[in-house]
Amino acid sequence: MTLSLRLGSFALAAAILLPAAPKAKNVILFLADAGGTSTLHAASIHGYGGTRKLFEQSMPHIGLSDTSASSAWVSDSAAGMTAIVTGAKTHNGVISMGPDTGRGKQDGTKLKTILEYAEEHGLSTGVIINVAFYDATPAACYAQANDRRAAATILKAFLTPHFGDGVDVLIGSGRPAAAKASADAGFDFFAEAAKKCYKVTDPPAAADARSPRLVAVFAPGPFALAPALQAAIDVLSKNPKGYFLMVERDAHTDNPANGLSRLVEFDKAIRETAARVDKKKTLLLFTADHSFDLRMIGGKPGTPLSLPSTKEGGASGKFNVRVNGSHAAEEVLVAAQGPGAERVKGYLDNTDLFGVVLNAFGWKR
Ligand SMILES: [Zn+2]
Repeated sequence: MTLSLRLGSFALAAAILLPAAPKAKNVILFLADAGGTSTLHAASIHGYGGTRKLFEQSMPHIGLSDTSASSAWVSDSAAGMTAIVTGAKTHNGVISMGPDTGRGKQDGTKLKTILEYAEEHGLSTGVIINVAFYDATPAACYAQANDRRAAATILKAFLTPHFGDGVDVLIGSGRPAAAKASADAGFDFFAEAAKKCYKVTDPPAAADARSPRLVAVFAPGPFALAPALQAAIDVLSKNPKGYFLMVERDAHTDNPANGLSRLVEFDKAIRETAARVDKKKTLLLFTADHSFDLRMIGGKPGTPLSLPSTKEGGASGKFNVRVNGSHAAEEVLVAAQGPGAERVKGYLDNTDLFGVVLNAFGWKR
């Protein structure tokens, strides 16, 4: 028997004996927009009175992700999310198009997103955000546009998906602005959505879980995340093939008191979700699209953090947290649990997260 035959039969035996790595049926991507590691640290102390208390800080697989854009070290949400959901870096301001795009001038190569892969494979898909639902981070999941400010283009893309039947569950803010942007461009977004079998509704807590497709969009302002997330998972998990869900929470800390409180609320919703989903079948992935220039500069155990409500207030020396600038370029946390989570380790690129999700589902690019 030749060596290659021996090796061949060994490989065959190994293939029979070793179970294939379990694949994810569902993937939930939790995106803390501007939630850098220093912000997470401060949120843990602010919300729970101590360090390492956030659920994502307890996840078994962690890594650090670079967040740079193709032409800048400091990323905005458009380029940051494009890298995560398409596996390719682009310029700041560009939504899921390649670096051959001229921002606001010329379309570039359209990049296929994780959400589009999921639609192509017959999964259900969802997007939950507490900002305008056509803002850069959610838009990068379901649209391609040469400028994040091209609201009508993004809204049209939502209604005309390239794969499957498009986003199945959308929960977000920005109703009046979306109505105006679509009217200015000669269409009625919400009427068109209703024609595409979406149940267009207001509070997601009242969402009808029997409806297979849902659009719940609010006027500007915060809404409770946990019931929205529960309603979305109820709808999406009806699909026996599984689902992909992106959940974004704005963790910008221009107002540190508000930003950290939003992050704590996000953490609680993630913890609840982790307790509800089937751990063996669901990959939970947590990361940020870019960091933010927030620093812990004081405070002690047993005393609540003293937080400014403005950037300027942080410079006065009275507070334990200081915010000097805006977005920042250092690496952000990636944390994961569930099938495929073992690929989250070491220093990663933001584009690697695309591969983590595709691999978890067992798909090729
Ligand atoms: Zn962002």
